[in-house]
Amino acid sequence: MKAVGLHPDVIVVTSRFWQTTCTLVRSGTEAFCIDSPVLPDELELLPAIAAQAEFRVVGCLATHADWDHLLGRYGFGDAPLGLAESTAARLRNEPGAAQRELRDFDEENYVERPAPLVLSAPQSLPVPGHCGIGERELELHPTEGHTLDGMAIRIPWAEVVIVGDYVSPVEIPWISASGSASAYLATLDRLEPLVAAAGHVVPGHGTPLDGERALAILREDRAYLEALVERGADAPLPLARRTGAQRKIHAENVERVTPAR
Ligand SMILES: [Zn+2]
Repeated sequence: MKAVGLHPDVIVVTSRFWQTTCTLVRSGTEAFCIDSPVLPDELELLPAIAAQAEFRVVGCLATHADWDHLLGRYGFGDAPLGLAESTAARLRNEPGAAQRELRDFDEENYVERPAPLVLSAPQSLPVPGHCGIGERELELHPTEGHTLDGMAIRIPWAEVVIVGDYVSPVEIPWISASGSASAYLATLDRLEPLVAAAGHVVPGHGTPLDGERALAILREDRAYLEALVERGADAPLPLARRTGAQRKIHAENVERVTPAR
């Protein structure tokens, strides 16, 4: 697991699995853990990383309800979990889904957890909106298209934007069963000014990006999605992301944009 400081109040750790990112953000004597690494040893290490940097974690947030972003409480068991209204609603409507998918992943990869995942009583946050931390506030912006739920989180004093599963250097836009290409494109339009003004952008998967690189990826993603809608399977993948795994995601995307016959 890699840890980098983007600002005195912002640390990003990147998981060895799927390069899933987790951001620790601090204001004064309060800190939040946003999203999560995937592997148990990484989650176990999180409190030590936070303590060493003098981040007192009092809450967990997640950008969306996919299980790989929901594991923060393995590191900070007592911290309340804050979610976008759309994400809290998705968890309510799919009871046990995240736990089931985590269990499937763990069985498939021979991973052992110290305990089952507990997601009880998440706090639902209005999005767009703000979330207080210490003396300051985080900005919450709606995201959808990858899934039907989610939020991007901007840390204004650090000029950092945490976008969830959008604008990734390692993953092409992924339209999951509940997502849609048009919603995804609308989200990219919404994120564009935030990304353009950001010092750093933290994608859900992959290393943190400077604003300029993130903006270039956002535009590649938009071009890919527009081509996907028009040309389906023939849409070219972004040049730096033409791996076997990304071709599988592309095949899934093609299914989603092709009307059922
Ligand atoms: Zn993800």
